[in-house]
Amino acid sequence: MYEKRQNLDTRTKIVATLGPATWDEPMLTRVLEAGVDVARINCSHADHESIRRQVARVRRAAMKLRKPTAILLDLQGPKIRTGKVPTPLPLAQGDVLTVVMDESYVGAGHRVGTTYPQMVDDVNPGDLVLFADGALSGQVVAVRRGEPGEVDIRIDDGGELGSHKGINLPGVDMSIPCLTEKDLGDLAVGLDVGVDYVALSFVQRAEDVVALRAAMAEQGHTDIPVIAKIEKPSAVERIDEILAVADGVMVARGDLGVEVSIEKVPVYQKRILSAAQKAGRLAITATQMLDSMERNPRPTRAETTDVANAILDGTDAVMLSGETSVGRYPVEAVQMMDKISREVEGSAFFRSTPIDAMPVTTDSSTGIVVRAACYAASEKARPLVVFSWTGATARQASKARPRGPLFALTNNPRTADQLSLAWGVVPILVPPVDSTDELIHVGERVLVEQGLIQRGEEIVILAGKAPSREAANLVKIHLVGEDQA
Ligand code: PEP
Repeated sequence: MYEKRQNLDTRTKIVATLGPATWDEPMLTRVLEAGVDVARINCSHADHESIRRQVARVRRAAMKLRKPTAILLDLQGPKIRTGKVPTPLPLAQGDVLTVVMDESYVGAGHRVGTTYPQMVDDVNPGDLVLFADGALSGQVVAVRRGEPGEVDIRIDDGGELGSHKGINLPGVDMSIPCLTEKDLGDLAVGLDVGVDYVALSFVQRAEDVVALRAAMAEQGHTDIPVIAKIEKPSAVERIDEILAVADGVMVARGDLGVEVSIEKVPVYQKRILSAAQKAGRLAITATQMLDSMERNPRPTRAETTDVANAILDGTDAVMLSGETSVGRYPVEAVQMMDKISREVEGSAFFRSTPIDAMPVTTDSSTGIVVRAACYAASEKARPLVVFSWTGATARQASKARPRGPLFALTNNPRTADQLSLAWGVVPILVPPVDSTDELIHVGERVLVEQGLIQRGEEIVILAGKAPSREAANLVKIHLVGEDQA
């Protein structure tokens, strides 16, 4: 049972990518203690055994700290790569590189294989092709469908092209399914060991998310939220249809900055965050937030400003990648995120969402009570206490960005862990109850015992009928201790 008092100061959530820098359990404990709410397992660098090991370590550390913590399984998706080359191929501007549609082709001279044989069907002369995160680029000049097919690319930005380097096709709608064989295998293991969220890379359209949900349902999991990683321009164009079917989005600025010209990333970030807020969905801002802290104990001014602006733009969570997976200062990076968040949230620039503009994503009667509760809480910044079985009501209340504390009480341990990602939500596990009166009584007692609320203080309660787990239909302005008086 989690019963420790939560740190109420930082409300923006912190996602930390695990890696060699944080695998060791004492270090993992330190970063969780420093403020990490969500541990991300990047499947691009994990096999099945490693997924199992990482989940077990996070659970042990979180249990030791009695801290609700979510685990996010980040599926690699259809990342296209070059095939093998015995030595890197030197390519100069004007050279024509032939990509051979055969994964096992061993490249030499101006020829290289690829993991994506469908490329020959998807590209047309004039399309842009990027290699090695955009370090090399060129334009398709010829497409030959055959056995195997070949695509000729005239090089604009040259360099050395090595084995297994990423290939990006910005602006090309890829016919490859978003869920690969590797993803399905990783997903099965992740669901088996009980991850709390699944993220999907290179989402292009709503159907990609629907396909992931179907694969999860086949394995008996309909209760795990899905995060769509937005890193293709086609996904930015279809952001509303993707948000309609996903539980949240990640602004995956790493690949996004390769797929679109890098100067477009800031405006795309604002577009994605604003669409997520309007749709009432979760949003994570990712990649290079405190990049220099991989090597230095202090970030740059530009990096701290970047984290602050993402928070002001409405992100629920900020994410660390290399900083916590391979960096030299993982604890310091988390502490820095925490400090920046506090500073921004306490400033006059950070504003609650006007209640009338608040997104409500469930049926209208729940929407009305959620709005009413947020309205009551916003007056005098009263603590808002939400009883939530699935977490949906608490996530909606979080979108109001209430000024006072937001406690989500649940007797579902999975919900407590999942709510670690929602902005401002302090998840607290409580014992099951038999009636709504008992629900209020138990909730009040637990919060007073933990020093989170005090007798004589007014709180706002938002609840459904207990124990039937009905949708929220009750709002009460409650004087703490009034029942005992
Ligand atoms: C990104 O591209 O920004 C990202 C988060 O994805 P990955 O780390 O899988 O490249």
